Amino acid sequence: MKLRCYKNSDIKKGTRVLVRVDANVPIKNGRVVPEGDFGRIKQSLPEIQNLLKHGAQVTLMTHLGDPGGRMIKDLSVAPIARYYGRLLGMKVKIGGNGPVTMLENLRFNAGEEKNDPRFARELARHGDVFVNNAFAVCHREHASVSAITKLLPSFAGELLVREVTELSRSPKQPLVLVMGGVKLSTKLPLLERLLPQAQAALIGGGLAVTFLAATQKSLQLAGGEVSAAERRSAIQIMECFGNKLLLPKDFVVRSSLRKIQVITANELHGRQTILDIGPAAMRRFSSVLDQAKSVIWNGPMGVVEDRVARRGTVELARAIGRIKSARTVIGGGDTISFLERQKLIDGFSFVSTGGGAMLAFLGGESMPGIKPLVIK
Ligand code: ADP
Ligand code: MG
Repeated sequence: MKLRCYKNSDIKKGTRVLVRVDANVPIKNGRVVPEGDFGRIKQSLPEIQNLLKHGAQVTLMTHLGDPGGRMIKDLSVAPIARYYGRLLGMKVKIGGNGPVTMLENLRFNAGEEKNDPRFARELARHGDVFVNNAFAVCHREHASVSAITKLLPSFAGELLVREVTELSRSPKQPLVLVMGGVKLSTKLPLLERLLPQAQAALIGGGLAVTFLAATQKSLQLAGGEVSAAERRSAIQIMECFGNKLLLPKDFVVRSSLRKIQVITANELHGRQTILDIGPAAMRRFSSVLDQAKSVIWNGPMGVVEDRVARRGTVELARAIGRIKSARTVIGGGDTISFLERQKLIDGFSFVSTGGGAMLAFLGGESMPGIKPLVIK
């Protein structure tokens, strides 16, 4: 898959370039929570700097959170503009007139998520050309990703090109998938597409609970019930690929008396909160990973927001860091921000900026943001 990139003749001094970035990052007390090296904003900087070198006039646009088509003051992108300003060493303002300016949160307008051509026309007024550098939203049919490409000459930014190139490489065998986190439905396409060629899928996190709940028990996710639809998805996957799924043999749980315990899968019941995979599961997963030549990982093994539930994810990242000569790919907002804080992200061959987008791309789903940029 080859993407259309701009050439020197496309961008000259004064060309107005509208750039879709993914700067949907946590904000606290009106400030961007400092990002690590793999932060979405930091990774989007080289493209902007390159455009500035060409003499372009850059307008950045992103969504932030989920305001649902209404203006919500706390979700203004003003702190993001200030953060870009600091990193680029210049003033960046919403609607300012410097070399880099920013548009307000795209999702303040209901047209964004409806892929409304009228909203896309409003956006298009800010540029002569459009550059998409936001892989993380390319699986969404939104105005700033999809409809806009019908109105302006459109190009892929370097971050998008890198994601597509890296994620298109066919995995060497044996391939081991590692899946955790929640919402099996979002991970289904990837599992269905890659399980036929994978040696195994190591299942942890809320996903393991979903699989166990589907067949045997009424188990609770930390966030509540496993829905009927999720159960059906789990059964469907187990029917086709049951022999390749590796579920944890033990878990860390919080009992109804708030005691933290390690128990076997057989001892699980509905009144416990399942927090993490246990040490036996960890050892088993590590030994499978030792044989792998490719690893694709999405989703934490436990409720990593909770101090007592971090071990599984940390140990797994260490195990993956130790495998020799394997290509290891990781993606997912929660997984990456956690491993970055733990200083464990350097052990991976490729860190994707996409969570849902990586799952969709690897799952062979249609990518409304990428399709219009493919050179046929
Ligand atoms: P990513 O953002 O990396 O794609 P997900 O969004 O799928 O990952 O999942 C991350 C979430 O999964 C975390 O908030 C974590 O608390 C949750 N999680 C992990 N293990 C469990 C569990 N056993 N029960 C409920 N939630 C879990
Ligand atoms: Mg997530």
